[in-house]
Amino acid sequence: MGMQSPQSQVDTEAEAFANLAHARSRAEILAALRTSPAGLTDAEAAARLAAEGPNRLPAPRHRSAVVRFLAQFNNVLIYILVTAGVLKAILGEWVDFAVIIAAAVINALVGYLQEGKAERALDSIRTMLSVRAEVRRNDNWVDVDSESIVVGDVVRISSGDRIPADMRLLEVTNLQVDESALTGESVPATKSTTHVDYDADLGDRTSMVYSGTIVTAGNAVGVVTATGTATEIGRIQEMIADVHGIQTPLTRELERFGKQLSLVILGMAALMLLVGRLIHDFSIEELISAAIGFAVAGVPEGLPAVVTVTLALGVQQMARRNAITRRLPAVEALGSVNVICSDKTGTLTQNEMTVRSVVTCAHDYAVTGTGYRPEGTVELAGVPVDLDDHPDLRAVIVTMAVCNNAQLTEADGGWHIVGEPTEGALRTLAEKAGVDDADYPRLAELPFESAQKFMVTRNAGPDGGRVLHVKGAPDRLLDRATTQCRDGRLEPLDRAMWDRRIDEISGQGLRVLAAARKPARDTGVDAISVDDVQDGLEFLGVVGILDPPRPEAIEAIRKCHSAGIRVKMITGDHAGTARAIAREMGITDAPDPPVLTGSDLQAMSQPRLREMADEVDIYARTSPEHKLRIVSALQASGQIVAMTGDGVNDAPALTRADIGVAMGIKGTEATKEAAGIVLADDNFATIERAVEEGRRIYDNIRKSVLFLLPANGSQSLVILVAILFGFALPLQPVQILWVNMISAVTLSLALVFEKAEDGLMSRPPRPHNRSLVAPIDLAMIALVSVLVAGATLAVYFLARADGQPQDVSQTAAVNMLVLGQLAYLLNCRFITTSSLRPAVFRGNPWVWRMSAALLVLQAAFVYAPFMNSWFHSAPVTPRGWAVACGLAVVIFLTIEAAKSVGRRLGY
Ligand code: ATP
Repeated sequence: MGMQSPQSQVDTEAEAFANLAHARSRAEILAALRTSPAGLTDAEAAARLAAEGPNRLPAPRHRSAVVRFLAQFNNVLIYILVTAGVLKAILGEWVDFAVIIAAAVINALVGYLQEGKAERALDSIRTMLSVRAEVRRNDNWVDVDSESIVVGDVVRISSGDRIPADMRLLEVTNLQVDESALTGESVPATKSTTHVDYDADLGDRTSMVYSGTIVTAGNAVGVVTATGTATEIGRIQEMIADVHGIQTPLTRELERFGKQLSLVILGMAALMLLVGRLIHDFSIEELISAAIGFAVAGVPEGLPAVVTVTLALGVQQMARRNAITRRLPAVEALGSVNVICSDKTGTLTQNEMTVRSVVTCAHDYAVTGTGYRPEGTVELAGVPVDLDDHPDLRAVIVTMAVCNNAQLTEADGGWHIVGEPTEGALRTLAEKAGVDDADYPRLAELPFESAQKFMVTRNAGPDGGRVLHVKGAPDRLLDRATTQCRDGRLEPLDRAMWDRRIDEISGQGLRVLAAARKPARDTGVDAISVDDVQDGLEFLGVVGILDPPRPEAIEAIRKCHSAGIRVKMITGDHAGTARAIAREMGITDAPDPPVLTGSDLQAMSQPRLREMADEVDIYARTSPEHKLRIVSALQASGQIVAMTGDGVNDAPALTRADIGVAMGIKGTEATKEAAGIVLADDNFATIERAVEEGRRIYDNIRKSVLFLLPANGSQSLVILVAILFGFALPLQPVQILWVNMISAVTLSLALVFEKAEDGLMSRPPRPHNRSLVAPIDLAMIALVSVLVAGATLAVYFLARADGQPQDVSQTAAVNMLVLGQLAYLLNCRFITTSSLRPAVFRGNPWVWRMSAALLVLQAAFVYAPFMNSWFHSAPVTPRGWAVACGLAVVIFLTIEAAKSVGRRLGY
């Protein structure tokens, strides 16, 4: 037998154990995986990572380039072109045949490149959302990219996390896991550390948690038994909850529209053929040519690609500004949002908490110092106090310190926290006061959950006694308290006094957190249930915590208001605090704005809530399920709602909202997956910017549609008029192909890069049921089609009247089409404002680059001999150019006049 390296021994054993880890004790597993509760060393983890490879599933495979290219041929225009090519071949017109087939290939190539560009833009965004995990290395908890987790790592998970690898549980606190991704079972599974039968099914292995499933409640520590493709989810090779295609309702609507239009065009072509044949006696050859020209002219083939590229580039732009899109349709919805429901803590405020005051029955203490730096003192009437003289103060601070999972660290010259900011502030307070929680070993914990709004720990005291320490929302603790502590003695609770004091503190915009305790017996059970603290608490006091507003959020709220968007604050915090902050941030300017609390909502019917929700901008003491009711109420009255969230229980409300917005830093994986947009910086101002960007993107798509459709309209019209009135065709099919092709690769892309128009955020949101092409737009499209078609026919007939041959006259007509489109591009740059101002020449260099490219190509079309023979074109006279240029200016001015009439009429 050959020598086995220690590493490969671990591999083999790990593999063997991955299958039976659920049936072995914790000690056996740890030994088999050569690890310990203290975790691996960095060196060992790195060695294992090199051997095992990263903890990730293979990315979903993209279609191969060839398949994607061939798929481009599955398109109405290509069918028409191929049919046209075959007909030309039958007629023996080999040059035309070659040009048409070349056009089909170029068209497919352009589609292929644009689709690739869109997919790349979206891919680059996908990789921005890396998943982090808390891992124990060298006996310390560190935050790592979950791809670097290895077998044997000790990992901590808590509510909202997506489990990063398969793990055997070592410590469990009320852990519940949604395993539906794996087992299809939608009821969360309750987990424990006890091993189960060897032959238990996946769904019954309660001692294990599996990669890709989601923690819905509680927390736990586990040791990793399998990573990457070796995990259960890896074995079924399924990449979950990612990959949203590049299709959106809008692109689908356009595709449908394109297909319908094609049918109409085919019908009209048939009719045209009949008229041409029966009334004007055209030859079959001429009629085939006309039908091909008409079909090629009418199909708006460039549209879906331009829309996709506009969306994808817009999404990339948004990501640069910290709003990461997970679902493309969210971008479309952004433009019509009229209500943003936002969390308070961390989104509107900075989430940098500092305790400013401690209030007990006996005294009001002030705390000095700001931020997490543990420098400062607790003072009474300006004089620093000694805890030994103030048992009331000590009791509050001890509870706040022991019922606390945050740690302070000093790095890069500053103080940081590991854990939650609220708890970090309390830890800083404890350090300032010199309280060390190591004197109170923790025996059990009931973790904080937004729904119950408190946290409990059971600790041993220095005297050996057992105490339940409770910290949380003051109203929740007061409801459960019967006594209060004054100078070390218990007396009946004075609820009215506390309510008054709490109102005072929260009225200053401070977050209030209360401390209480309850003597406990040593039950030997390592769990605490909510029932244990249902009553009989001794109320110790409260602290007031400052969490300053984000200045940029105040500005963003102002902008939202001027853009016709209401901002509603939905917070778990106290009503008084919420009201004070809402006023400070300008969410409302009413002196005494109405506030709905969670319990108000609970008592309210949904129809009543629907009436209230429009008016009330502040919601306090809410639980995640209330968010769902608020979204539903607002949507029922026709609002388009964006809703933020971070906790696992926020996911349903985010899914329900028109745009779910998850927090990138604070948010759990569960929320991010439910969201349409993730904020990389958790900042409200980013939502406002995303709305702005969403409006711009939508505007640009509309501009592209407005720009592209008249091109099809005018070309079809020219052919239609020629056949109906029985004169020779002013444009040949290959010439129409030429115009469409060069403008598809040049002009139509220029609008994709168009900047936001002035006043973008001072107009009301777009009505969401408004279709992309509104009646006023149709009128504009019709007008432009008639203008350009008229000018093209005029140029053609003038040339003919001048005695020019057919090819020169047709070339002049093609010039007119191209110059007409160029002029109209300038009209389309601004759709809500006038283009008759110098700004039309600034702001988007692509307009000039693309126009220059177009003119160079067109000059080649007119003057290059090979182009002349391929496209039946011929050099035109200077007079021909001059007339076309003059008419282009007339087109531009006429459309500006029409736009201004439209504006006067209020469109
Ligand atoms: P938002 O919903 O705007 O983010 P929030 O952070 O105040 O507001 P929650 O996290 O649900 O919302 O907190 C609700 C309340 O629970 C807080 O006002 C506070 O009283 C209490 N609380 C918050 N964090 C803790 C904690 N770690 N331990 C105990 N109680 C807490």
